[in-house]
Amino acid sequence: MRKLKDDFKPDLDISVVLPVYNEEENIIEMHAEIDAVMQKMGQRYEIIFVNDGSSDNTLERMVEIQKSDPNSVVVEFRRNFGQTAAMAAGFDLARGEIIITMDADRQNDPRDIPDLVAKVGEGYDLVCGWRHERQDGLWLRLIPSKIANKLISYTTDVKLHDYGCSLKAFRWEVAKQLSMYGEMHRFIPAIASWVGVKIAEVKVNHRARVAGVSKYGISRTFRVILDLITVKFLMNFSARPLQFFGAIGLGSTVIGLLIGLTLSYQKLIMGIGLGDRPLLLLAILLVLIGLQFITVGLVAEMITRTYHESQDKPIYTIRNIFGR
Ligand code: UDP
Ligand code: MG
Repeated sequence: MRKLKDDFKPDLDISVVLPVYNEEENIIEMHAEIDAVMQKMGQRYEIIFVNDGSSDNTLERMVEIQKSDPNSVVVEFRRNFGQTAAMAAGFDLARGEIIITMDADRQNDPRDIPDLVAKVGEGYDLVCGWRHERQDGLWLRLIPSKIANKLISYTTDVKLHDYGCSLKAFRWEVAKQLSMYGEMHRFIPAIASWVGVKIAEVKVNHRARVAGVSKYGISRTFRVILDLITVKFLMNFSARPLQFFGAIGLGSTVIGLLIGLTLSYQKLIMGIGLGDRPLLLLAILLVLIGLQFITVGLVAEMITRTYHESQDKPIYTIRNIFGR
């Protein structure tokens, strides 16, 4: 989590943030769709396109769009940093009270934006889209995603049907407080739950990709699992890593010591030889591993302190202060 800048105050109602990577055939139509919805809503808004190092004509087209639409902003990355980084840049620049994220490939439907905004108005901090009739391939998308959703829900204790849906609405404080690395945008609800946000889910429309190609393959599934381990660890133990490493370390050391004591008793009191007993090796191994785990835990504790203190990262988050 990051600290909010003290001097920032939103001066618009809604910011729509879109990471865009090689979507030249989609971007004009995408902008028109969002624009139509936003005009109808009649709020003060902006549309932030983050060009994530596209190698086609996406940037040129977006700059054209920007020239004719004063409510739009185009951010150009120097290279492809990934969807997560593009979202993060959008959050940093956003001036809206409510921040909407969505894909730029026309798979998400801007006509769902008013529903999400209304839900935020009901007092939720984060509203997640749920593509209940998702239009993607069965084997490479729907099934892995179903498993991933179950796994992430179970592991992080934030139960959602659709972690992968980009269409989301955030209260600005929540979006701006998120610190995301790698491909962590998928875990936003779990990360945000650490802040202590109220999360709601809204069914949204989903459309098949009609132009351009998907930027991800099946390998994403494995990366998601590794990211899940990181998120789980950071959520539960980042402020007290020794509790995690130490538990394993102590368990291992104690078992090792018990075996060692038994062997010593047998050798010293009962006179049973030690030389041909593999159990001895196991005892030594367990004690050594155990000590290592505890040491790693202690080192992690020190790193954690550096992490929080050097970057001014709070170990808590406040929703409100009354009486000030
Ligand atoms: N995207 C991006 N940077 C990347 C990959 C993707 O900004 O490195 C954008 C992409 O242009 C799209 C969104 O992220 O707007 C989701 O990508 P995609 O549609 O390929 O994912 P899928 O819907 O297949 O999961
Ligand atoms: Mg897509």
